[in-house]
Amino acid sequence: MRILVVEDEKRIARFLKQGLEEESYAVDVVTDGPSVFDWVAGATYDLIMLDVMLPGLTGFEVCRILRQRGVTTPVLMLTARDEVDDRVTGLDAGADDYLSKPFAFKELLARIRALTRRTSASATPDTVLKLANLELDTITHRAKRGGRKIELTAKEYALLEYFLRHPRRPLSRTLIREAIWGYDYYGASNVVDVYVRHLRQKLEVSGDPSLIHTVRGVGYKIDDPE
Ligand code: CA
Repeated sequence: MRILVVEDEKRIARFLKQGLEEESYAVDVVTDGPSVFDWVAGATYDLIMLDVMLPGLTGFEVCRILRQRGVTTPVLMLTARDEVDDRVTGLDAGADDYLSKPFAFKELLARIRALTRRTSASATPDTVLKLANLELDTITHRAKRGGRKIELTAKEYALLEYFLRHPRRPLSRTLIREAIWGYDYYGASNVVDVYVRHLRQKLEVSGDPSLIHTVRGVGYKIDDPE
């Protein structure tokens, strides 16, 4: 799941990015209104979180333009106060839901789940992803291999989900890194290799054959054992 956070207050943006990444979402942050269009044109988002008061264009204007351009990604408006006017304007502009600041993070997560479930329900009815004897429950985030439970960290889960949503397809390190860590990741360049190694160790701990295969010169793919 990939979320675009549009928020000009650095402290809030940082808090949202960190919190959402801990919940296995990939997060990109934009700090002004007009830049949103470039980001939305360049990537597929499952949700856009849109602050109202932004430099350049207001969140309402951004939302209205997105809808005019046929972008159907769910939009969650973040309003500064619990004002009825803001809500009505937001929904008029094509937003799907709104949340008043300050909000509890738990509340935010519940709204995100509701909005993304609504849109993905028809596209992906299966909440359990399967390959060979591996199962991943996308609701509970639990993995099982041959009935054995596997504990995953948030990032390991996100990586495994990404693989299982693109099975049998070679995926480049760049593609994987952008999907899981976001465009603005400036950490270790071998982060994908490190996490693939962790995942393999967990998936193969009882001697099961490898499902994540190295594709020379490209990256990795998940597929049946060779
Ligand atoms: Ca603002």
